[in-house]
Amino acid sequence: MKCCNIAIVNKIYKGVSFRFLTAILLVCAGLFLPLGKCAVHAEEIAAGTMEDGVGAEAQDGFSEADQEPIVVVIDPGHGGKNLGGEYEDYTEKEMTIVVANAMKEELEKYEGITVYLTRNGDQELDLEERCEYAKSVDADFIFCLHFNLSAYHTLFGAECWVSAFGENYSKGYSFASVEIDMLQDMGLYSRGIKTRLNDKGTDYYGIIRHATERDIPCVLIEHCHLDQENDKPFYDHNEKLQDFGRLDATAVAKYFGLRSEILGVDYSNYQNVHVDVPSHVVAPDRTEPDICMIEVTDQNTETGEVTVQVSAADYDSGMLYYTYSYDNGEHFSELQRWPDKSRDTFSFTLQVPPRVMPQIIVNGYNGFDLYTASNMISLPSMDYETAEEIAAKQMAQRALESISKTVVPVKKEPVNISVTRREPEEEADKPVSFRYFMTVCIVCALLVLAMTVSMILIIRGTKRKRRRRRKRRPKI
Ligand SMILES: [Zn+2]
Repeated sequence: MKCCNIAIVNKIYKGVSFRFLTAILLVCAGLFLPLGKCAVHAEEIAAGTMEDGVGAEAQDGFSEADQEPIVVVIDPGHGGKNLGGEYEDYTEKEMTIVVANAMKEELEKYEGITVYLTRNGDQELDLEERCEYAKSVDADFIFCLHFNLSAYHTLFGAECWVSAFGENYSKGYSFASVEIDMLQDMGLYSRGIKTRLNDKGTDYYGIIRHATERDIPCVLIEHCHLDQENDKPFYDHNEKLQDFGRLDATAVAKYFGLRSEILGVDYSNYQNVHVDVPSHVVAPDRTEPDICMIEVTDQNTETGEVTVQVSAADYDSGMLYYTYSYDNGEHFSELQRWPDKSRDTFSFTLQVPPRVMPQIIVNGYNGFDLYTASNMISLPSMDYETAEEIAAKQMAQRALESISKTVVPVKKEPVNISVTRREPEEEADKPVSFRYFMTVCIVCALLVLAMTVSMILIIRGTKRKRRRRRKRRPKI
């Protein structure tokens, strides 16, 4: 009985274990099937073979966010002894930390995202350390925050630098498109989204190079130029730097399709720019614009205004700025925005001073700040009066009028005044000289009189003396 019981128990045990094993196998199969699918999906994304490319991943970012948050690393440029750009009272390392803190604070208002900073104070970190840190937190993206300076303090505007390689290029470019669009909406001029290579043919910017080595997409944002008046209104206050931070955060939220209940926004349907994963290195443009020609379409000899039509093109990086000269290239204007980057031809009007023979040249700059000089056009000089000259003339005229207004009444007043009681005061000149003359005459007359009288008296006195002597003389 005991054995029988044991046999039955064994049978039951075997039966149960078989069923149990089968159930486990079925559960496992059910579990592994979707996992396998995810793995394939991930491989497809990594290989860049999915139809949607970057856009798809960005959209997937939110759908996966319920389970696994997006991890981003914000890298405030420079720090410690590495000050970054310095101009007037502005130091780049101090500005980037303000932007970064505002960006982190704003991004943390979104759901499904974890945000890290490479530095939260004035620490000095090398570029590789920053990327190593991003790798350690399993970052999906690194956003590097910077401000720009140019050698001659001439350039202005915002630009984004991205890796020149594969998926890091396409992801970087896709995010940078959102960022640059928003910076443009803010009023900054877009200097574009660019790549740059070093002598070894790898990414020039260390942070992008090290991030690419670790397979982390990375965008270096140069918000604007610290040394240019055009850009100054965008960074001259801490509040404005925080605006940059909030803008950067919104660009990230759009790119990853995030939602925020706190902010009441939902970017889950935001459409990123689709960028194909390039099969080759996306090299920067190293050549000047292909063409730059000018034509004078109007010359106003009365105002000195000359209208110039510019036709220029760069088939690699497009046109960015232009400058003009009316003295055969001796002096050029400040850089001007290219009016419409989608068009190669536009017209502008310049002012040529009078009595100068205009010799007009235009330099057209491409997206990489390389320029091509146009043909030169000579025009006859214009003998017109400048606004300043006209104003000076008018001022002189007014001054003359006001003088004549004040002088004429003075001349007329004596006429009136001669009739009025102010005569003695106003005609002081004539009576004084008359009185003086009369006084002198009287004095002279008195003197003459006195002299005459004294002469008479002297003569009379002498006669008396003679008479007395005659009387005293004894008569012989
Ligand atoms: Zn910098």
